[in-house]
Amino acid sequence: VVVVGGGLVGALNTCFLAKRGFIVDLYEKRSDIRKAEHVKGRSINLALSTRGRTALRMVGLEDTVLENGIRMHARMIHDPDGSRRPILYGKEDQYIMSVDRRRLNEVLLTAAEKNPNVTCHFEHKLVSCDFKTGEAEFINNEGKRIKKTVDLIVGNDGAFSGVRKEMMKATLLDYQQQYIPHGYMELTIPPSPKDEYLMETNYLHIWPRNEFMMIALPNLDKSFTCTLFMPFEIFNSIKTEEDLMNFFRDKFPDSIPLMGEETLKQIFMSSKALPMVSIKCSPYHVEDKGLIMGDAAHAMVPFYGQGMNAGFEDCIALDEMLDLYKNDFSKALPAYSETRTVDAHAICDLAMYNYVEMRKSVNSKLFLMRKKLDNLLFTIFPNSWIPLYTMVAFTRTRYHLCIARRKHQDEILTKVLSGGMMVLLGVCALSGLRICNQRGITFQTLTDKAMELWESFPPVNR
Ligand code: FAD
Repeated sequence: VVVVGGGLVGALNTCFLAKRGFIVDLYEKRSDIRKAEHVKGRSINLALSTRGRTALRMVGLEDTVLENGIRMHARMIHDPDGSRRPILYGKEDQYIMSVDRRRLNEVLLTAAEKNPNVTCHFEHKLVSCDFKTGEAEFINNEGKRIKKTVDLIVGNDGAFSGVRKEMMKATLLDYQQQYIPHGYMELTIPPSPKDEYLMETNYLHIWPRNEFMMIALPNLDKSFTCTLFMPFEIFNSIKTEEDLMNFFRDKFPDSIPLMGEETLKQIFMSSKALPMVSIKCSPYHVEDKGLIMGDAAHAMVPFYGQGMNAGFEDCIALDEMLDLYKNDFSKALPAYSETRTVDAHAICDLAMYNYVEMRKSVNSKLFLMRKKLDNLLFTIFPNSWIPLYTMVAFTRTRYHLCIARRKHQDEILTKVLSGGMMVLLGVCALSGLRICNQRGITFQTLTDKAMELWESFPPVNR
């Protein structure tokens, strides 16, 4: 098997495939991150939850990864006046983990390479592949072209996947991509001079400001990595250090002393906001020779913290299909494609939905009431009433079923609440009639008065 891409999903997938006894060649276009000093790229830390943890456990890596992670039990909301309020993710003992992206990738690559049947080729970029013959062609950093013919080519090569592009030529692949108007930029809150965390550690900190937001996840070195998500329009309107400080003083005043004015200016003015894309496609395979997984199949906006988790779960899903069809790719790949597409599309939709929830809904009293009600019902009926976030982050309920269950729960709540309203209205009407009765006002007088009032309005105002 050839695995294209040695990022998070490619490295883990290699461990899964090697465990099944396949001979795996992993090709990664970048140099080996274990030897690089600084790795350019996306977020420094990531939220790891149940789906990702389960996949790591299956290849014996969960404990190693968790040792270097930090628990986050709740969101910590930072209001504009500087006050903070926590919102639990689930029950007291449920948490997501903040993990270092680079360290995680290194652990996965090392684990993959420990298998004698795995060879990693760094600085090898996929140029083309042929799904009839199973031939994949790479170019290395010396410009040399290398060909490899295999039984299966797996694209774990991220959102701008080369394998996916080749698949589009070979099969009828539906494809949809959407850039959101927001970009993101990473900032930092360093450790205190006493080398301590400057904010509460075991939280995912959020500064929700309706149209935009900032979040911060803790790192092991006592710093926090902040990510500012904002429309490109606003990023572009901040041209000078003065603009920047005015903006931060207005929107995120409590973060300035934490970041340090000079550090904030230096990072912001020398960085560029990066785009975020959501990609859906189908199917994920070409006959028995090609397959895409992870971001290559379903890149999503990062607001549910599920991109990597979903990619890791892809590895479990493929493993299960290979089990079921005894490693017969001609059966396992279509079955994987069919079952996984509906779930991957569902999590892309959920991530888009959370884009609004994180920056806006957490400011709404109605939303907070719903969260409390959800948690209360979850405590009373732990097996039948599971809040959406809990299902997504703390269970392996298929993503599309999470949405279906949530819809069902919404329907029940609507019925219960409207039933309650009817009872309340009934009680009010009865009490009103009783008062009228005591005062000698008859029902007839009431309706006459109401009609009189109605007639007194000109028709247009009725
Ligand atoms: P990638 O990580 O993109 O890896 C693809 C690899 O393929 C790369 O190493 C690349 O160099 C290589 N490659 C590309 N093209 C070629 C080629 N032609 N030949 C050879 N190699 C190639 N997810 C979470 O679960 N939790 C989070 O908290 C979270 N936070 C995020 C925050 C931000 C700001 C962003 C942008 C994403 C976040 N994600 C999160 C999503 C997560 O980063 C991705 O889902 C995950 O990295 C996908 O892994 P991947 O291996 O599929 O792709």
